[in-house]
Amino acid sequence: MTPPAGLPPTSRFAPAPTGRLHLGHLANAIYVWGLARRLGGRVLLRIEDHDRQRCRPEYETALLDDLDRLGIAADEPSTDELRAGTSSYRQSDNDAIYASALSALRGHGLVYACDCSRTTFDNWRAADGRAWSGPGCPGACRERRLSIDRALMASVASGLSLRVALGDGEETWDDMLRGPSFAPVAAAGDLPVRDRNGNWTYALCVVVDDLRHDVDLVARGEDLIDATSDQIRLGRLLGRETPPSFAHHPLVRRPDGSKLSKADGATAIGELLNADHSPEELFGEAALRIGLIDKLRPASFEDALRLVV
Ligand code: GLU
Repeated sequence: MTPPAGLPPTSRFAPAPTGRLHLGHLANAIYVWGLARRLGGRVLLRIEDHDRQRCRPEYETALLDDLDRLGIAADEPSTDELRAGTSSYRQSDNDAIYASALSALRGHGLVYACDCSRTTFDNWRAADGRAWSGPGCPGACRERRLSIDRALMASVASGLSLRVALGDGEETWDDMLRGPSFAPVAAAGDLPVRDRNGNWTYALCVVVDDLRHDVDLVARGEDLIDATSDQIRLGRLLGRETPPSFAHHPLVRRPDGSKLSKADGATAIGELLNADHSPEELFGEAALRIGLIDKLRPASFEDALRLVV
């Protein structure tokens, strides 16, 4: 494992309240707290509810309750602080911060409105025989100068998204779990920072939040590797000279190898606890499913954290 420079690090656990916590979140928590603990660092809890159509307050309530029942506590904020009201650690409470990041990018002439839909990308692929990649988008929207202000009228689905021109080339990072890594920037076109429904995107929120909360260790599932080079580049455009250290860990998968989803009731933590499974059984199961142990056994959270090396 390559530890990050500049210890001790600040990491974060950042679930999206689009469903119940599942075993995949436990696996992620084991890595987030495990790596932070090993390096003497701390962990923030962040509610990633940037997508107003998919997130629900009742899922956040369940998420906070599940963390309490499991005995998982962040250094900041407490679950009670989040229950008490608005928070710097809940994305939907921080609209002005993302708007100001957008203004900064706009000030550099990097933001443009885009009316490409999924169909535009599909049609381009069908005509050209390969997916759109690299700077821009199939509709050449940057040159068309569509109205950014219209795209910003959040309450109306304008059909316009906002993209940031990331530039080209690639970004490299020394992944703590996977070693030296690199990937092209804008592999699927320029990065959307606001979607057609008026939501700030995951990419914008995560980069802005990691920067403003001094997060310098990002431990997350390997399904997010493809997002990493764009996020490093966006951070640079927002003035972040040193990207966070990244650790992309294995995912809990279904027996057929596919990714678990929040809709998989069988692995919802709340349901499993209600059915009298102990937190130790669940940590043991999560550790087994990502290969940290090779035989099922109960593990306390602290035991599970020590498995991360
Ligand atoms: N909110 C994301 C998720 O629930 C995590 C994002 C990240 O760790 O960068 O999977």
